[in-house]
Amino acid sequence: MQVNYDTYELMDFTCKSCGWTGKGKELSNRDFSEDSFIGDLLCPKCLDMIAHWQAPLS
Ligand SMILES: [Zn+2]
Repeated sequence: MQVNYDTYELMDFTCKSCGWTGKGKELSNRDFSEDSFIGDLLCPKCLDMIAHWQAPLS
C-alpha cells in the first residue's frame, strides 16, 4: 500500500498481522532509503510493514 507522505499521518491504518489499528503518525518510520526514495511504515506493535511512501522526485 502506497501512501502520500503529506497526508498519511492523518489516515487510519490496520495491521493485518496483529490487528493493531491507529493513525499513520503512530507508525514507525524505518530509515529512508536515498537510493529508492521510498520510506517504509511499520506497525508500532509487531514491526510488520504496513505501508510505504515515495518521496517526490523533484
Ligand atoms: Zn502489527
